[in-house]
Amino acid sequence: MTTENKHFISLDEILSIVFKCTHCQTRISIPLTGSEKLPAKCPSCDFSLLSERRSTEARILDFLRFIADFKTPDPKWQFSFALEIRNREDE
Ligand SMILES: [Zn+2]
Repeated sequence: MTTENKHFISLDEILSIVFKCTHCQTRISIPLTGSEKLPAKCPSCDFSLLSERRSTEARILDFLRFIADFKTPDPKWQFSFALEIRNREDE
């Protein structure tokens, strides 16, 4: 018999999203709540983080709002969200 383990995280486990500067590898954590602006540049090396800043920033902020809005399921909903994540041990 073959078994497969799947790994999930629920949205309420997500505390922030983390940007990693590709230039210097610095990580910048953006909390889910209270963030209406994203860093334009890396605080360590001043490298520009977002090209096409406006459209990219709007999409990322929509993503943050989605997680914040859906992490606490409405009692009327008959579902909740989870994200399946890769099992690094399978690679
Ligand atoms: Zn950097």
